[in-house]
Formats: sequence, C-alpha cells, structure tokens
Amino acid sequence: MKELIDKLTTTNNLAPEELKKLIDNRNPELAEYLFAKARTVRIENYGYDVYIRGLIEFTNYCRNDCYYCGIRKSNVEAERYRLTKEEILECCAIGYDLGFRTFVLQGGEDGYYTDEKIVDIIRSIKRNYPDCAVTLSIGEKSYESYQAFFEAGAERYLLRHEGVNAEHYRKLHPPNLSIYKRKECLYNLKEIGYQVGCGIMVGSPYQTTDCIVEDLLFMKELNPHMIGIGPFIPHHKTPFADHAAGTLELTLFLLGIIRLMLPSVLLPATTALGTIHPQGRELGILAGANVVMPNLSPPSIREKYLLYDNKICTGDEAAECRSCLEKRMESIGYHVAVSRGDHKSFV
Ligand code: SAH
Repeated sequence: MKELIDKLTTTNNLAPEELKKLIDNRNPELAEYLFAKARTVRIENYGYDVYIRGLIEFTNYCRNDCYYCGIRKSNVEAERYRLTKEEILECCAIGYDLGFRTFVLQGGEDGYYTDEKIVDIIRSIKRNYPDCAVTLSIGEKSYESYQAFFEAGAERYLLRHEGVNAEHYRKLHPPNLSIYKRKECLYNLKEIGYQVGCGIMVGSPYQTTDCIVEDLLFMKELNPHMIGIGPFIPHHKTPFADHAAGTLELTLFLLGIIRLMLPSVLLPATTALGTIHPQGRELGILAGANVVMPNLSPPSIREKYLLYDNKICTGDEAAECRSCLEKRMESIGYHVAVSRGDHKSFV
C-alpha cells in the first residue's frame, strides 16, 4: 500500500481502483506514512503557516431542505435570525483587529438578501477593509448573480458539491436539488474568476468508498483552489438524526490524500473536525490541512447557527477563539499567519 502513497506523491494522481484499494486497506501505520508525505508537500507549498478565515454566519434562514442540515427549512425549532449590514461590519471590525484578513460570509439560501443587498454588503466590507479578501458561502445562484458579487469585490466562493455520485446526492437532498446544477454552479464560479472551493461531508449517510473515490476524482477534475471536508455529524431535528457520524480517522486519511492529489490546495481543518475530537483541528493540520476558520459571528446568535449537534465554541467571543487557535497551532509547531492567505496561483 505504501507504493500507492509513493505513486500519489510523485504523480499527484491514482487510478480509481488504486484509490479504492488505498482507502479500504488503510490502517494506523499507513496513515502515519501518508501524513508524513502530506506534511512535506504542505510545508513545501505553504511552510508552517496556518491561514485563518473569519466566519460570519449572517443568516440561518434557508429555502432548502437538505436532509443532513440543522437549518433546513422544515426544522421549525430552529430560531431564525438575520444580521444587518451594520452587524456584519461590526464582526469585520472585531476580526480585523484580531488579525483576520479574510471574511467568509456564510448562510442559508435566504431570499431576504437580494443580489442588491449582498452587493452592498460586499462593497461596504471592501471599502472599509481593502486589504481583506471576501469569501461567499451562500449556495446556488445564477451566473449573473455570481458575476455581480464578483464585480462588487468578492473573490472566493465556497460551495461544497456534497457528493458527485448522482444517486448519493439524491439520498442527501430533496428532489429539487441536483448534482448537475451544483456542478454547473462550480464551473460558472471558476469561469467568472473566483477562487473556488468544493467539498464533501465524510461519512455522510449512504456514502460508500466508491462514492468517495468519485468525489476525489471530481476534485481532481475541477481542480479547485479550496476543498472543505469535515465529518458528517447528525442533527437531532433532521431526517438523519439517527445516522452515525463520520469518523476522525477517515477524515484525516482523506485530508492526507487530498493534499497529495492537489499539492497547493487550501485545505481547512474544519470546525466539524474539532467537534468530533478535542484535538481534531490540530490533527487535521498534521494530516496536511493549512487553514482554520474560527467563528466571528456575534456570540448572541452563535447557538442558532447549528448545522449539526454539539458544535464547539458556540459560547465564545471571537477573541477567545482566535487566541485559543493560536495556542493550538503553536502547540504543534505551526503559526497563524496575519495574511489574506490566497491560493499560490493568485499571489
Ligand atoms: N447554504 C450554504 C452554506 C452551507 S453550510 C451552501 O449551501 O453552500 C456549509 C457546509 O456545512 C455544507 O456545505 C455541508 O457540507 C456542511 N454541513 C451541513 N450539515 C452538516 C452536518 N450535519 N454535519 C456536518 N457538516 C454539515
């Protein structure tokens, strides 16, 4: 199996059956071998820097009904909220002082925020913080909307593909959502000129190794600038309440593989990873990740943006999260960078 990891390291690629074999035959020793290679590649590309992104969860209203997500439309128990432009700018002000140079606006697909409103928010952030990057994570929109946001100054977009196998995608989403639409959005975003991020939940219900292999090959094909992967974690008010969570172990193994497949990709150790294990994010960095995305949302609304159960840091102030993460990264020999943290091809 080590030969497969060596091959992946030198060619940044494996055939589907090789990927399947590697994943299905993984064990702790092999994982250590993989992580050592992944770290080397990561350090060649980004040194010991860890890029931070300030996550602003600005609305939990959503028109969609994804079976896994705690803020799905049908969850009538979710207490809904929206942040005003002023509240969003206040998050940025706090974040800027803490050294954040990227702000990620994430939310449900909320029709209240028309294109005009989003454009106005992006422009205001860019006017106040011209040295910062704005990332959007607000779901599927038309080409024209994506174009308008880009022209307003947004330069990155996160849209996880969730599962490229059509049958698997259908098991995770209601019939009005499709992987074809999702892929079209990702290609549109790329064409417009965004730094684009796709990704999956690891261990989502009905996900097989074959699904994962297809997802990895899709990542290779799309060649995104960012890839977000974290374990699936059930939310008690969703149809998947009784499904098992994804594992730390498989998530780390996939982070290692992705680092070797796409050496310069921006790869976060996600909050979900930190939720299923107290050292999840540190272990993610040691498996090849190079980004962390602490929360900048006001503490008053944090317990309301719950995509899954037991989310960490819901009671903390932004400053606490920032210093906690800095300590965590220092403890494993890495350093939080005060920088936009662009993909290498954009610097
Ligand atoms: N509405 C935006 C933002 C979604 S939240 C969009 O559609 O892109 C960001 C990511 O959280 C999702 O893409 C999904 O992969 C992840 N997520 C949602 N529910 C989750 C759960 N129960 N466990 C783990 N991750 C989840």
